[in-house]
Amino acid sequence: MKRILILGAGFAGVQTAIELDRVLPRQSAHEILLVNDQNFFLFTPLMPQVVSSYINPRHFIQPIRDIRGRRRFRFRRDTVLSLDLSARRVNCLEGPLDYDYLVLALGSVADYFHVPGARDHTWDFKSLEDAVVLRERLLDLCEHADHTSDPELRRRLLTFVVVGGGYTGVELITEMQDFLFHYVVPRHRGIAPGDIRLVVLEATAEVLRGVHPNLARYSCRRLDAEGIEVRTNSAAVRCFPGGVEVSGGEVIQAETVIWAAGVRAHPLVESLPGAHDRRGRAQVNEHLQLEGHPHLFVAGDSAAALHAVEAPQVAPVAIDHGSLAARNIAHLERGTPLESFRYAPTGMLVSLGMNYAVVSIGGLRFSGYFAWLIWNAVHLFKLVGFKKQLQVALDWMLGSIFPRDASILRRPVRCKICSGGEEESARAAPTTRSAGP
Ligand SMILES: Cc1cc2nc3c(=O)[nH]c(=O)nc-3n(C[C@H](O)[C@H](O)[C@H](O)COP(=O)(O)OP(=O)(O)OC[C@H]3O[C@@H](n4cnc5c(N)ncnc54)[C@H](O)[C@@H]3O)c2cc1C
Repeated sequence: MKRILILGAGFAGVQTAIELDRVLPRQSAHEILLVNDQNFFLFTPLMPQVVSSYINPRHFIQPIRDIRGRRRFRFRRDTVLSLDLSARRVNCLEGPLDYDYLVLALGSVADYFHVPGARDHTWDFKSLEDAVVLRERLLDLCEHADHTSDPELRRRLLTFVVVGGGYTGVELITEMQDFLFHYVVPRHRGIAPGDIRLVVLEATAEVLRGVHPNLARYSCRRLDAEGIEVRTNSAAVRCFPGGVEVSGGEVIQAETVIWAAGVRAHPLVESLPGAHDRRGRAQVNEHLQLEGHPHLFVAGDSAAALHAVEAPQVAPVAIDHGSLAARNIAHLERGTPLESFRYAPTGMLVSLGMNYAVVSIGGLRFSGYFAWLIWNAVHLFKLVGFKKQLQVALDWMLGSIFPRDASILRRPVRCKICSGGEEESARAAPTTRSAGP
C-alpha cells in the first residue's frame, strides 16, 4: 500500500487530505496520513478576538478527527523533527514514518529580520497559545495598573506596541483598543483612558499594504479616531525588556511589544535542498513539486511557486495549494498530465474592531458597518462545522450585549515590573514558546 504523508494540518494540509479523499478512487491502495503537532485545526483569522475576550478559543478550533468524519485519511498527532529525502522518511517525535508521496504544509514562523532583542523580548502572535497568553498578559497588566499609585509606571504597563502594520497587526491592535477602552476602563477605577497608549510601528510608508489605497486611507482615519498611533516609516531597530527603539533613535517605553512584522517559511522547509525565496519559502515548480523530487509537494505559507505570480501568504492560497497538490498526486498515480498553480486573488477583508471593517470582493469595495457585517458573515461561513459556527455567533452576540469574560485563570505571580526587577510573569505563563520577556 502506498503512503501519502501530509505534514501540517493547517489550511493547506487539511485541504490536501480532504481533496485526496475525493479524487482517489475508493478502492485505491493508498494510505493517507495527516500529521500535526496539535490535534485541532486553527482558524487563524479569529485569533485577535481571543485577545479581546470576544470569543472563547475553544469555539473556533476544530478537532481534526471531527473534520475527518467518514473520510479515509488517518490522523496522527506528532511533531516532525527532520526529513530524510533520499530514504523517503520523516523523523517524528514518536518514531519514523516512510512515505511514497510527501506534502509539506508546515506553515510559517515569525520573521524577526535580525532585529536585536526581537526574538527574546517581544510577544509572538502566531499560535493559539500566543493569543491565549497575550490575553492573560493584557488582563494581568490591567490588574497591576489598576492599583499602582505611580502614574508613570501605570502608563508603561498600559502601553502596547504592535510591530507590523499588516492585516494581522491592524486587526490585533483594533481588537485591543476595543477591549481596553470599552471593557477595561469602565471596570478598573484606577485606569483612565489617558493612561492607555496603543502604537503600531510600520517600517514602510504605508499600513495594510496590498489593500486598495482608499480603504487603507479609511483604515488609517479609523485608527486615528480610536486614538491608535500609527507610525509609518518607523522600523523597530532594537527590542529590550520594557521597550523598543524605533529607527531615528526614539525609544518607546512599553511593557508589551508584540511582533507581527512578518513571517518566513518553517525551518524544516528552509532546510530543503534547492532554491528558496527571500522569506525562506521553497521554490517549487508550477505543479508545487520540489525540483528533483517529483513525489514531494510543498503547499501553503512555505511554498513559492515558480512561474506563477507571487502569491501572498494567506489562507485562500494555502487552500488552493492543498487542493492542487492532492489532484497532482492523483494525476501522477493515473499517469495523466499535472495541473499548474494559477494565483487568482479572492478579495480582502480586514476587521477594524467592533462595527468597522474594510472589505474588497470582486471589484466591489466597502468600509464601515456594512463591511463589518460582511466580515462577520464571511468568517462565520468559512468556519468548519455548524457547532463551531453557532458557538462563535453566540459569542459575538453575547459579547455585544453583555460584559466580556475577563477572568484570569492563573494565580498571580509577583509583578517584578512593579517591584523594580526584571519581569518574570510571561515565563510563568502556560506557553511552550520562547517569545516574551
Ligand atoms: C494571527 C493570524 C491571523 C491571520 N489572519 C488571516 C486572515 O484573516 N485571512 C487570511 O487569509 N490569512 C490569515 N492569516 C494567514 C493564514 O493563517 C496562513 O496563510 C495560513 O494558515 C497558511 O496555511 P498553511 O497550511 O500553510 O499553514 P498553517 O495553517 O500555519 O498550518 C501549519 C500546521 O503545521 C503544524 N506544524 C508546524 N510545525 C510542525 C511540526 N514540526 N510538526 C508537526 N506539525 C507542525 C502547525 O501546528 C499547523 O497546524 C493569519 C495568520 C495569523 C497568524
